[in-house]
Amino acid sequence: MLKRRDILVLFFILLPWTLLITFWHQHAGYPLIPVPKDNRTGASKAHQRGFSLHESCVTMNKRITKATQMKYVHQRPPPWSDTLPTLHVITPTYGRPVQKAELTRLTNTLLHVPNLHWLVVEDSVQRTALVSRLLENTGLNYTHLNVETPENLKTQKKPRNVRFPRGTMQRNLALRWLREHINPNSSHKGVVYFADDDNTYNLELFEEMRWTRKVSVWPVAFIGGLRYESPKINSQGKVFGWKTVFDPRRPFAIDMAGFAVNLQLILSKPQACFKLKGVKGGYQESSLLQGLVTLSDLEPKAANCTKILVWHTRTERPLLVNEGKKGFTSGSMEV
Ligand code: UDP
Ligand code: MN
Repeated sequence: MLKRRDILVLFFILLPWTLLITFWHQHAGYPLIPVPKDNRTGASKAHQRGFSLHESCVTMNKRITKATQMKYVHQRPPPWSDTLPTLHVITPTYGRPVQKAELTRLTNTLLHVPNLHWLVVEDSVQRTALVSRLLENTGLNYTHLNVETPENLKTQKKPRNVRFPRGTMQRNLALRWLREHINPNSSHKGVVYFADDDNTYNLELFEEMRWTRKVSVWPVAFIGGLRYESPKINSQGKVFGWKTVFDPRRPFAIDMAGFAVNLQLILSKPQACFKLKGVKGGYQESSLLQGLVTLSDLEPKAANCTKILVWHTRTERPLLVNEGKKGFTSGSMEV
């Protein structure tokens, strides 16, 4: 039989432990518990770099004594299938204050897309640490390249209607990479898409383009001074012209974001690329597409070009007028 004194002694021994455990539950929470890597079959090597994380989160409400346990599951990378064609998404990018924000947003989109290979081409003398780290952390299947647009192409005096080619050399380098690394005789099925780092993409777009036979096309919003531009489709579902105000007689009056090309077609026409010099504004896309297809080859997507699945959004340049004034911010902070 326990005596009263023994009970009191036991109580005073157990009390500090009880208080300590309660405090730990309330303030420290549970540590993150990483689970084993996801070794799905059929995934390419790069796809096995991902991880999943199970986080237990304990919420203690002062009045409700019962602990509520919630489970957050983050799973990466996106699914990979042996039967789906690969989407080779080409993104030119250049250093400026919003670069990491743009690439982060695009990453978040691409993480949802199965069978994706992201070719990121920096407009820089060398590949930067910022982009290298970002890509490494995404878990995406990617190729990281760089080529700097020479200063003379940016500053050269040009006629008023000739634009400085933004991202052109970078897109061409990615095309060259595909031609040098993918055997045209292999059974590899793929599609090539040019995705600028600042646009907005609906996930449906990627499935629309996945089975492109030659070149597929669809409308693009916020371009050419309009809410949207679109290919014109006849009753047979064929493209016969362009709903644009700016120069609708261009061979292909379509923005970069408005088409995708079958990979085999890219490989079988090694001369086709974006022309760098003397290309009038709005003729960049035509300079590539003319070497690949004619109007009758185009495949309208997005419900016969009646849906908007991509927006040519542009990010406002942030105001940094106080930067460096009083030494509040550190130049070494990656933004
Ligand atoms: N770009 C680049 N170098 C530059 C300017 C732009 O690589 O000097 C890239 C940019 O990151 C984007 C694409 O080229 O992915 C198109 O550029 P931007 O979005 O500025 O063109 P716009 O929307 O005005 O057509
Ligand atoms: Mn843009």
